[in-house]
Amino acid sequence: MLDRIRIVLIGTSHPGNIGGAARAMHNMGLSDLALVAPRCTAVTADSVSRASGADHLVNGARAVETLEQAVADCTLVVGASARSRTLPWPMITPRELGARLPKELADDATRIALVFGREDSGLTNAELQRCHAHVHIPTNPDFSSLNLAAAVQVLAYECRLAWLAEQEAPSEEPGQPLAAHEELEHYFAHLERTLVAIGFHDPAMPRQLMARLRRFTLRARPERMELNILRGILSDTEKLAAERDSDMGRHRKE
Ligand code: SAH
Repeated sequence: MLDRIRIVLIGTSHPGNIGGAARAMHNMGLSDLALVAPRCTAVTADSVSRASGADHLVNGARAVETLEQAVADCTLVVGASARSRTLPWPMITPRELGARLPKELADDATRIALVFGREDSGLTNAELQRCHAHVHIPTNPDFSSLNLAAAVQVLAYECRLAWLAEQEAPSEEPGQPLAAHEELEHYFAHLERTLVAIGFHDPAMPRQLMARLRRFTLRARPERMELNILRGILSDTEKLAAERDSDMGRHRKE
């Protein structure tokens, strides 16, 4: 279970924090580290020294350009956030995150991602809206932001506690396969295209429509099969809209 939990660090600027995060992960038995557009060199004397024996995780980390690439195959994406944002999103505590893991990871093929933001500015709204849920480590409200590697440590510890408890408990039956991040993103793109085609959505006046539809869909945790049905409906809707548009064009000419 633990090796299917990916730690994703976005735009990290201090190599020491990458090393510190790797150490925290290795201590807790996690091994999958991805770096999205790091703003520093990952392997430096500082990161190796902070990794303190876990430098194989730093050396083996996958570096990619975008969050999408880092989490494309994940069925659950959770963003770690020190602050609450403008559009409220489902929030869970680190303990609740741990409690969800055995079920989320019951199927051996599934992977999940825990996403961490930049030291100076955290995660952007666009990044947070790509997450199913946000996890906040309860802290002193007047001083709520943990060091990046410390935040990784807290969540990795909760993952380990959940895994230890799971060793004693009978495991859950896997359900139907859930849609992965990449499939959800294709669906959202298709949905937006269709809403524009039928004149329901004007990208020049977005009014948070897509963000709200994202939140609603991600909350439902659709199965792959359910998403395929929705995409079928969208394709037929697009076809009808195109027919309507060409009919209207014909009438205008007549
Ligand atoms: N100054 C930034 C926070 C940066 S800390 C801000 O105000 O948003 C770097 C990262 O560590 C954050 O993006 C988040 O992923 C994680 N983190 C820090 N404190 C956290 C907390 N209390 N709960 C959850 N994640 C936290």
